[in-house]
Amino acid sequence: MSKLIDEIRFTQELIKKPSVTPKDLGAMNVVVKHLKKLGFKCKLMSFQEKGTDKIINLYAKYGNQSPNLCFAGHTDVVPAGDVSSWSTNPFGAKIKKGYLYGRGVSDMKGGIGCFIAAVSQFLKENKNFKGSISFLITGDEESVAINGTKKVVEYLKKKKEKIDFCIVGEPSNRSKLGQMMKIGRRGSITTHLTVIGKQGHIAYPLEALNPATPIIKILDELKSKALDKGNKNFQPSNLEITKISIDNSADNVIPAKASATFNIRYNTLHTFSSLKKYISKIIKKYEKKYKCKTQTQFQGTGTAFLTKPNQTVKKIQSIIKKETKQNTVLSTIGGTSDARFIKDIAPCIEFGLVGNTMHQVDERSSIKDMKKLKSIYLKIIKSFFN
Ligand SMILES: [Zn+2]
Repeated sequence: MSKLIDEIRFTQELIKKPSVTPKDLGAMNVVVKHLKKLGFKCKLMSFQEKGTDKIINLYAKYGNQSPNLCFAGHTDVVPAGDVSSWSTNPFGAKIKKGYLYGRGVSDMKGGIGCFIAAVSQFLKENKNFKGSISFLITGDEESVAINGTKKVVEYLKKKKEKIDFCIVGEPSNRSKLGQMMKIGRRGSITTHLTVIGKQGHIAYPLEALNPATPIIKILDELKSKALDKGNKNFQPSNLEITKISIDNSADNVIPAKASATFNIRYNTLHTFSSLKKYISKIIKKYEKKYKCKTQTQFQGTGTAFLTKPNQTVKKIQSIIKKETKQNTVLSTIGGTSDARFIKDIAPCIEFGLVGNTMHQVDERSSIKDMKKLKSIYLKIIKSFFN
């Protein structure tokens, strides 16, 4: 007889492990311990790259039949910040006035707790269901995310492990449970640009080459041209300049170098390489015009993707709507998540708790919401295997 897991007590146990990214400090073991009790086969995977911390990841599975429903999440959390501003110990997991407090409760230890509790109840009632349930849990989501889900997905690909559908338990709701589920994410590309001119006396500009002029022109053109108008599922792509710097200690010297950083959050009308081309073309144009030199470095943290709102997605949406009495929107807004890696092997959606206190002082989740999320997850599991 498998044991029932209580979503609140489990989440409290997990919060008490202060797994501030990239440290684990026993958090993954809490998940493994409970999954093993439920009969899951747990495979722990450690990854480390030169100059990065060693990260523990988990792929756990119950059953071998298809279809395979996967839950994905992370046990690492962001730092507590100013601890003295918290109304309670950020790793104490106290319940006050109907809220569970703690770093990571909404992002996303509470999501893990609700899913594992739902699974425990499902297994108790459906011992011989046809299919399998898996957990892909990483300790590297809040940090650089190179030794986490990305590498587990590579491993699963190599092993030809089939995942038929994946639910990522990130806090997808802004202020009310059921407002929003995510069916895709925008991509992100960051460009570091340096324009190299020639230093000289400010009174003799013809003897020098001021890199400030071309960098302003480049940034102006990039910022003022619309990248697209958006489409049915995505808002328009957007460029933001995040840094402009000219290192110059004198006021009468034309500087030698100017640099800038900008980021584009883009929709499915672009790719990393199409944007690289687009940006490079504009830079080259001004390089030629001003006879300066440029250096460019591009960094991508995931391309834009969309999970087609198929039957499974619509079914999940209707379960959430019914349970929460909200008009659940299918959305693609917000930052990136590990869904950007999982989408390579399985269709995924994101649905979890309310995220309006995540990464903040006094991060908290309502007990009511947690109980409701558990029951939503249970209904999703039941409908998936029905
Ligand atoms: Zn998260």
